[in-house]
This record gives sequence, structure tokens and C-alpha cells, in this order.
Amino acid sequence: MPNQSAWDEIDRRITDLFVPADPTLDAVMQASVEAELPSIEVAPSHGKLLMLLARICGARRILEIGTLAGYSSIWMARALPQGGELVTLEADPKHARIALENFDRAGVADRIHLRLGPALETLPKLAEEKGAAFDLVFLDADKPSNPAYFSWALKLTRPGSIIIADNVVRYGALSGAKNDAPRDFLEVIAREPRVTATAIQTLSCKGHDGFALALVLS
Ligand code: SAH
Ligand code: MG
Repeated sequence: MPNQSAWDEIDRRITDLFVPADPTLDAVMQASVEAELPSIEVAPSHGKLLMLLARICGARRILEIGTLAGYSSIWMARALPQGGELVTLEADPKHARIALENFDRAGVADRIHLRLGPALETLPKLAEEKGAAFDLVFLDADKPSNPAYFSWALKLTRPGSIIIADNVVRYGALSGAKNDAPRDFLEVIAREPRVTATAIQTLSCKGHDGFALALVLS
């Protein structure tokens, strides 16, 4: 059974090989550290994975729930074609402020619209606005709300869109068996007839965790 240091080393190799030094992302992380934001952003190799998934599905409109300092937002915004848009929802004004500065820093501010406020208040507004369907949704905010976010994601997407949820493993390990929000959430996804889905475990510099990935069918 490999230990944290073994998979740290492998993740470092993967990151060195596939995520070349990026002064912009380094500055983004530096700003996050200086502002004392929690270091709970996706691992670099997983940021790249989100970018690849967005490119693979040709996403023009992306919805993210949970911005933090905007690290994952910037990765996904980089996948957008000309005229594409990423909408990211954040409840914490301080996180939002740092994220907006980071979007400027990364040169993607024109493509990203940050909506400040609890996501469960913003999502109904997005639905009322009747914008084009989102091609990709990334769920990465407060985990107990994931079933509700998933249900909004289904309303705001179209057949062929993808929904990705982060931290579907780690939160479970932390919360224990009694209140196992991720396991319940995986059950919600598995039982939903409008998607076909799976979940993968991940090992990275962030430890043991996982993603769920759902393809919207109808
Ligand atoms: N996606 C980011 C990490 C997000 S961390 C990345 O990988 O870089 C989770 C974020 O969700 C935090 O910034 C937190 O403030 C925000 N959040 C928590 N509850 C929320 C809610 N109800 N509505 C919107 N954002 C919320
Ligand atoms: Mg996360």
C-alpha cells in the first residue's frame, strides 16, 4: 500500500511533466496564500484535467460552484473558445475579491463572471435569466448542498453536457459513516436516470480524494 510520500512523489512527477512552470498560476497561488485563504483548490494536475475535459467537450459556457481564489476557474477559462464564458458562484466576499484580482492577473477577467452570494440563491436567478445551457458544470462548494447543486445543474444543462463534482471521496473520510454526504451524493447521481456517470478516486499532493463525472442524457 503506497503512502502519502509515495504518491506525492508520483504526483510531483506528473505535475513536472504535464503542468509546466506557470508564473501566472504561481502568482495566483501566492495571492491566495498572502490573503490566508484555505489551500483547498484542486491539485495542479487536476486543474489541467478540468481544462482538458472542457476542451474535449468543446465547452463554450461553463458553470462553477465554489470559486475560492479562482484557481480552478482560471484553468477552465483557459479552455474556452473566443466568445466563451465561465460563470462562477462564490458566497464569501473576501474569496470573491481575491478571485477577481486573480482573474485580472491571469488575463481571463473578460471571460469570467463571478456572482457573489450563496449559490442556492444565485442558481434560481441563473435559471430565470434563461441563458444558453451550460456545457460543463463543476461542483466544488459546500458539500452537503451537492444534491441540490446537482439538481440545479440538470436544469441548467442540455443532453451532452457534463457535470463534474470534486471531493466525492475525501469529505466522506472526514465526515465518517454517520453523516456521509459524499456517499449519499454518489447515490443521488447513481439513481438519477437523466445521467450516466461514474466516480474515480484520485491521489495527488492533496491526498486521497475523487471526482464524480456525469454525462447528461436528457
Ligand atoms: N473551486 C476552487 C475551490 C473552491 S473551495 C478551486 O479548486 O480552486 C469552496 C468554495 O466554496 C469556498 O471559496 C467557499 O467560500 C465557497 N462556498 C461555500 N459555500 C458556498 C455557498 N453556499 N455558495 C457559494 N459558495 C460557497
Ligand atoms: Mg474541491
